[in-house]
Amino acid sequence: MKSIVIVGGGVAGLELATRLGRSLGKRGKRRIVLVDRAPTHFWKPLLHSVAAGTIDPATHHIDYARQAIDNGFEFVCGDVVNVNRHERSLTVRRHLPHASSPEIVIEYDRLVLSFGAVTNFFGVPGAEDHCLSLDTVEQAEAFRQRFLDRCLAAGMTGQSLDIVIVGAGATGVELAADLRHTVDTLVRYRVSKRDFARDVRIRIVERSDRVLPGLDRSVSAAAAKRLAAIGIEICTETAVAEVTDNAVLTTDGQSFPSAITVWAAGVKGSGLATQLGLAVNRNQQIVVGECLATRDDPHVFAMGDCASIVNTRTNVMVPPSAQAARQQAIFLADHLLRLDRERLPAFRYRDYGALVSLGPFGTVGILLRAIGSRHVRVSGAIAQMIYVWSYQRYVMSNVGTWRTLGQMLARWMLSKTATPIKWQ
Ligand SMILES: Cc1cc2nc3c(=O)[nH]c(=O)nc-3n(C[C@H](O)[C@H](O)[C@H](O)COP(=O)(O)OP(=O)(O)OC[C@H]3O[C@@H](n4cnc5c(N)ncnc54)[C@H](O)[C@@H]3O)c2cc1C
Repeated sequence: MKSIVIVGGGVAGLELATRLGRSLGKRGKRRIVLVDRAPTHFWKPLLHSVAAGTIDPATHHIDYARQAIDNGFEFVCGDVVNVNRHERSLTVRRHLPHASSPEIVIEYDRLVLSFGAVTNFFGVPGAEDHCLSLDTVEQAEAFRQRFLDRCLAAGMTGQSLDIVIVGAGATGVELAADLRHTVDTLVRYRVSKRDFARDVRIRIVERSDRVLPGLDRSVSAAAAKRLAAIGIEICTETAVAEVTDNAVLTTDGQSFPSAITVWAAGVKGSGLATQLGLAVNRNQQIVVGECLATRDDPHVFAMGDCASIVNTRTNVMVPPSAQAARQQAIFLADHLLRLDRERLPAFRYRDYGALVSLGPFGTVGILLRAIGSRHVRVSGAIAQMIYVWSYQRYVMSNVGTWRTLGQMLARWMLSKTATPIKWQ
């Protein structure tokens, strides 16, 4: 049977595997294989909350093996280490910490690459060595552990704690608000002394002239106002020149003390993207044509953050976002098979706007073309409801309504019995 192999079960890959499994795998029309290095899927836009300890990733995981059985695809857990495009096969190294790790070879007729992206430090000296990043659950958990340890130590000794977030995009802004919320919670649960919140300084350093530079100016202004109100210091038009183990140095000569520095200022394709002999852009993302096939190989497709795609509506690059990744997966699920019979239509990205959650301090955003051609700015409870709904709708489309409701109920029950911070 012909095989479609998908590398990376993130926002794009999980959606594609699930849809193809349901439509083709279950009917025995194609063998659908999903390969991911992790055994479970986690919705990356929630990683900042994992870092702040406000959600436990285990309560949001989707188990790939279970998803595969339920939806008619095969799951292989391992790292793709090589793709042989001439023989149309790829090599996967399995992770077996207590045994020798065997490599297996999987053949494909169509290969879809959706292995995401990694943090781009843009060659800033010291950044890679001294900054934490939030690409994976493990990194977010490492951040949480360090953040809580430092908070507890500072709370006991009365010392101040400086945290610098580089980049005021959605990740940086949401992380800052979530960290402030955790600090408030530590005080509320009397884990730290009463004036501890004052001793934690959270600073965002941003090169452009405003926070959320990719969004409408009114949304930036609303977010900046709320961040200032909760004591987050914002340094715009400030570029980072170097990062040391305890400071962030800027190009205009400032030095910000920092016990924890997070880099949230951009992504690039991972090392695998450059090993495949496919054309990549200067951010190491794989260049694809309008139907998402790679420029060099019509049997290989790329989507999501690992791909460089131009929006045929506007002629500008499609941004690396969950919204775009999902639209590409739905497009490929609908059209991949027609390739044998006819020319594929062009992928058309539609930007529906963006919402930025500041945790309990509010949600701000803009819905594009919400009423006819009019854009609508949203905030408050309505914005928060749409924010939560867009995530739950994604989970529901993958695991179904009952499992989604079951997970929500389990989280609600847990929230009634435990502190709202994950300690261990
Ligand atoms: C903290 C944070 C907050 C964000 N907030 C938002 C937001 O609010 N809104 C929004 O639209 N977007 C947001 N994004 C961006 C969004 O999460 C990404 O654009 C989206 O996840 C990209 O989907 P993807 O499928 O391309 O890659 P990913 O979701 O990153 O998935 C890639 C998958 O590939 C696997 N993989 C990687 N390499 C290999 C390999 N060699 N072998 C096997 N498997 C491999 C990984 O394990 C992973 O499961 C945020 C990102 C972060 C990090």
